[in-house]
Amino acid sequence: MADFKVTELDEDLDFDALPYWDVVIIGAGPAGLAASLTTAHRGLTTLVIEAKDRAGGQPQFLYPDKKIVDIPGFPDGVSGEELSDRVYRQAVDALVQFRFNEELHAVQDTNQTEKDDQLKRVVTKGGEYLCRKVIIACGLLHFPRRLPVLDALESRSVFYKVPKIGDYEGRRVVVIGGGDSAFDAAAMALARRAEVDVIVRNTEPIAKADTVQRVEETGGRVRCSCEVAGAKFEGGAMKLTLTDDTQLTADYVIVQIGFLSAKETFQRLDLRLNDDGSIAIDPYFETSRRGIFAVGDVHGDIKLIAVAWAEGIQAAIYAFKEITSPYWLNEKRLKDQKIAMIGDKITQAARAK
Ligand SMILES: Cc1cc2nc3c(=O)[nH]c(=O)nc-3n(C[C@H](O)[C@H](O)[C@H](O)COP(=O)(O)OP(=O)(O)OC[C@H]3O[C@@H](n4cnc5c(N)ncnc54)[C@H](O)[C@@H]3O)c2cc1C
Repeated sequence: MADFKVTELDEDLDFDALPYWDVVIIGAGPAGLAASLTTAHRGLTTLVIEAKDRAGGQPQFLYPDKKIVDIPGFPDGVSGEELSDRVYRQAVDALVQFRFNEELHAVQDTNQTEKDDQLKRVVTKGGEYLCRKVIIACGLLHFPRRLPVLDALESRSVFYKVPKIGDYEGRRVVVIGGGDSAFDAAAMALARRAEVDVIVRNTEPIAKADTVQRVEETGGRVRCSCEVAGAKFEGGAMKLTLTDDTQLTADYVIVQIGFLSAKETFQRLDLRLNDDGSIAIDPYFETSRRGIFAVGDVHGDIKLIAVAWAEGIQAAIYAFKEITSPYWLNEKRLKDQKIAMIGDKITQAARAK
């Protein structure tokens, strides 16, 4: 615990004896961690449920070693792992409680009420948790799209995340994918002295132009309009055949071709979805189910750590206001009432015609 007071929660609180949690947050990625420390700082009992065995989300699991350069306050960059560990420590100091290795299964409505809230029951494969508000921050489910042609090799040198390798000197690395993740991986391997080929299925990469330029300027070969058609082992290395008949030899292959959709989980939660399968939210980050908020990558739009943080913090504050403000002062409900009044006026005007 820090030597200054970081939370309104009582250090001696017996979290196991709580009749319900004020807030349950699903996912300990950037959005969930930022939301959790915001609610806990304000004295709300806060539980975070995380499917993996550690906090951090994508920066921790997909690019722990990458130097992130677009986080305000870190002019020299910060690794995904360090950033995740710092925010996690801050949440622990704020007395946020965590359950790791538990995956969300459902959020059920109950008949119990607490002030204005109908309590919800969050069901995971390991337990059930009653709460007043739920914040869904489960990001992209971390099931990368796989390439069967490479899986068939059963090789430990085929990676679906950026591997933690300090120095690639003299290593031949093939990166598959045309987006930012693929080109970030290529740039990192090049900076660590690898020989890099990037295989892009489309006619041109969709990654940021300056990253593509950096990869090309530092010796990366970008091969567009082709895919891996065949793969085998030969002389201790992988031999890849591309659809344009090019043959490549690789010590490591890094596949970054996106993720499987989390749509199935979202549908199970009975939430309204956008056309692209992401969770639909209102301007207060509340979903189609009252008391359930959604933040970060789950609702589409801009996928950045700072955005996930900001949304997590905003939803946490709206949840806090709903829990602590009297009904007649609740900003969202006042706005809802105003909108309803405008609707009434429009109806009355139409009837008067
Ligand atoms: C390769 C790559 C590089 C990137 N580089 C940058 C960068 O340089 N700068 C930047 O700002 N952004 C970057 N991003 C984007 C950034 O990482 C994401 O926008 C951000 O992590 C989203 O945070 P989140 O909390 O919404 O989701 P996530 O980070 O995906 O976290 C969600 C958490 O929820 C957990 N979870 C999922 N399902 C369940 C479930 N059913 N039950 C319980 N827990 C669950 C997951 O295990 C995970 O820990 C990058 C992304 C990638 C893929």
